[in-house]
Amino acid sequence: MSFYRMHIIIPMDEEAVEHGAIEVKRELSELIEKNNLKDEVKVIETGPVGVVGKGVVMIIYPERLYYYNVKPSDVKEIFEEHIVKGRIVKRIEHDYGEKRAGKIVDYKTVGLTREQKRVVLDRCSIINTLDMEEVIAKGGYSAIEKIISEKIKPEEIIEEVKNSGLRGRGGAGFPTGLKWDFTRRTPGDEKYLICNADEGEPGTYKDRLILEGDPHKLIEAMIIGGYAVGAEKGYIYIRGEYQLSIERTQKAIDDARKFNLLGKNILESGINFDIEIKKGAGAYVCGEETALIESLEGKRGQPRKKPPYPVNKGLWEKPTAVNNVETLANIPAIIINGANWFKNLGAVNSSGTKVFTILGHVEYPGLVEVEMGTPLKDIINIYGGGVKKGKKFKAALIGGAAGVFLSEKLLNVSMDYESLKENKAVLGSGAILVMDEDTSIPEILFSILKFFAHESCGQCSPCRIGTRHLVDLIYKIKNGEGTEKDLDMMLKIVETMKETSFCPLGQSVIMPVKSALTNFKEDFIKILNKKNNEEVLNA
Ligand code: SF4
Repeated sequence: MSFYRMHIIIPMDEEAVEHGAIEVKRELSELIEKNNLKDEVKVIETGPVGVVGKGVVMIIYPERLYYYNVKPSDVKEIFEEHIVKGRIVKRIEHDYGEKRAGKIVDYKTVGLTREQKRVVLDRCSIINTLDMEEVIAKGGYSAIEKIISEKIKPEEIIEEVKNSGLRGRGGAGFPTGLKWDFTRRTPGDEKYLICNADEGEPGTYKDRLILEGDPHKLIEAMIIGGYAVGAEKGYIYIRGEYQLSIERTQKAIDDARKFNLLGKNILESGINFDIEIKKGAGAYVCGEETALIESLEGKRGQPRKKPPYPVNKGLWEKPTAVNNVETLANIPAIIINGANWFKNLGAVNSSGTKVFTILGHVEYPGLVEVEMGTPLKDIINIYGGGVKKGKKFKAALIGGAAGVFLSEKLLNVSMDYESLKENKAVLGSGAILVMDEDTSIPEILFSILKFFAHESCGQCSPCRIGTRHLVDLIYKIKNGEGTEKDLDMMLKIVETMKETSFCPLGQSVIMPVKSALTNFKEDFIKILNKKNNEEVLNA
């Protein structure tokens, strides 16, 4: 066994590959080999680290120094200066006690490299998660081992998940243990577990990071879930554009089968469970569980009438539990550490952690996993590094496209299900779009409404016609041709859509529209009749 004095992590995702990560890794490995350092320095390829827009990232341990935007031509200098002589290459952007806004700040103080509370992302960007030995050495499949060796019954697993307070991380926040319980209790000798990896929320890629960074965690969770609900077959429904996620998850499934962790009689326990990947065609509505099931059955992805719910009549009309990737990724840790450990993380009725995607006008866009209940301002200012270029904060759209525009007044809000509900907001997918003082809310609303009009599946007229009508109105308003009547009409339309639309897509358009028109009304008033007024002045 070798003990390395230095580990060098090269996170690999599509952005990194596009910027030359493969060449960087090859160049570095060759230099290490040529200089006989391969017993001292280890290069590890991992999944993405969660930092966005920084090209190839290189993390050097034990000092945990991050180099950003590394080019193949930088590698020789990093090798000679840092790896051999232990000196930081200061000309390359790095994160380690650097100067920001005139002050020296430690990398643990600001930015996405600050310490996080990682439960679902704990192995991402730490190990090569496609190497089974590394996965197992870092606790992979130990929850399965515990279930088998301690002969834990399915009902006990469900009870533990119920007691943990885990709620769905896909948006709805439904208690996971309860969903599993309903599925288990529904009579039937054929049941299914589906992992919803159809991550279609604009700007959200938390599930992709798990799929690319630690697919074995998801596989382990699905084996546990399948055993708990009584399913022997699981599907992972991944959006087709997630090519790297599909490749890595498939490789992980193949490796798990080789280790008898999937298939018949898993580890000679009598448990049978296998997983198949299904690719989605990229329709946002397929994130809705019944539309996803329709698509999985080979039909057009349109929502079904509920009830019956999938737990009673799901895939092929059999009892089916549908869980989001992030939700499932919490399961192994709950089994290992117990329900109370999980319940002690986070906030009341919102236990555990949450992976947030920080986007927009922040210094450090990317992913962060923190405890539920962390104030919004901490996520933006500490992890996101604050509003870009020292500008003033104007708004944050919380929860994705179907989220809520929050003003500065709610910067202190705790990011958990209950606190957001009290403030008429939603946690949704965990996306936080930060907007600075120069942002036009009508312009952002225009983009959101165009998105909904494009993604409406057309099955019901309130949504099909309503979204189109909203786009026409906001287009008119943002171009200075609108009136206050148009604003009232927008509110009437979204209220009608909320009451009469068939599925959550149409029902939730009210969230961004109402919050924009209520919390940022002055932005709309300012441009109403602008064109007419200008024409009068110029006449
Ligand atoms: Fe389709 Fe929209 Fe109706 Fe949902 S609300 S069924 S997305 S048309």
